[in-house]
Amino acid sequence: MKFLFTLQPISNSCMRIKKIFLSLVIPMFILGSCGPKKKTDEIQAPLRVVQVPPFNADSAYFFVEKQVKFGPRVPNAKAHNQAAQYFISHFKKNGAVVVEQDFDAVTWDNQKVQLKNIIASYNPDAKKRILLAAHWDTRPYADKDAEKKGAPFDGANDGASGVGVLLEISRLLGQGKMPLVGVDLILFDGEDWGKDSSTGQESKLKIPDGYEEWWCLGSQYWARHKHVKNYAAYFGILLDMVGSKHAQFFREGGSLEYAPGVLEKVWSTASRLGYTDYFVKTNVGGITDDHLFVNEIAKIPMIDIVHYQTGVGFFGDYHHSRKDNLSIISKETLSAVGNTLMNVVYYEE
Ligand SMILES: [Zn+2]
Repeated sequence: MKFLFTLQPISNSCMRIKKIFLSLVIPMFILGSCGPKKKTDEIQAPLRVVQVPPFNADSAYFFVEKQVKFGPRVPNAKAHNQAAQYFISHFKKNGAVVVEQDFDAVTWDNQKVQLKNIIASYNPDAKKRILLAAHWDTRPYADKDAEKKGAPFDGANDGASGVGVLLEISRLLGQGKMPLVGVDLILFDGEDWGKDSSTGQESKLKIPDGYEEWWCLGSQYWARHKHVKNYAAYFGILLDMVGSKHAQFFREGGSLEYAPGVLEKVWSTASRLGYTDYFVKTNVGGITDDHLFVNEIAKIPMIDIVHYQTGVGFFGDYHHSRKDNLSIISKETLSAVGNTLMNVVYYEE
């Protein structure tokens, strides 16, 4: 994934910045400042009380660790295939209808890769559906590492954390108490083999037909070839780097632009659960991540819950380096994200 622009863009003049600026300048409906004024100390209670199965952070951590133990899940590597088989059997064991979407792609550095999106569906006949997603591949090189820029790295946060949360949600859904809505968990492949010009990468190749970016190959493919004909979801939530200690999630620009209502729903749910240290009500610029293509091509409003580090910017200093290993993963953070998602899903009518 790449950082696209900040609130104070320096040189990029792309249209998207202007559009995002508009949505930042006029966020009346996002901040709820139109309509009758509420007392500031008024806490909005949910309309009904739902028994939400508690998210188990030990279990989610186990799933993160399990992925790291396979080795970096770099496309074409043995660990990549082993992890895919593990995810598929986990989803099936936990009662999901599973679709494997295999496709070939070419990367910016001219590697031919075999990629696989994995889709696990619960309540497959429910018309109203919520889409939860994360990417499961690992970037092939630590190009932002201080010393070994060509080295592989664990991707404990970048990839494995979001997948770990989704595997735990799958385990909970598999226990039988279903929400009122259908739930689709999508593991996108090929998100992280993109060209990062900030680390000097240049490509002689043209981006192939059917793609707009070297990043996010799996979500671009899925958005154009949905796993079910005419598939639609009411909304989507993408998880990316959701496991590091004291992580904070700011309101990302693309999410604000395409899915402000979803952002509001998720952030207010987190607030009701006491996770305001994690889900910060501050707007920041947008990034290129899988949610962008789900919004723009598949036309499903989707937000991105993604780590933003004050003073560093998106992702934190471990990003695409060997620091992205299990030592930065926190059960408390996984718990904040997992419980928030479970509540959003189970409160949806
Ligand atoms: Zn990445």
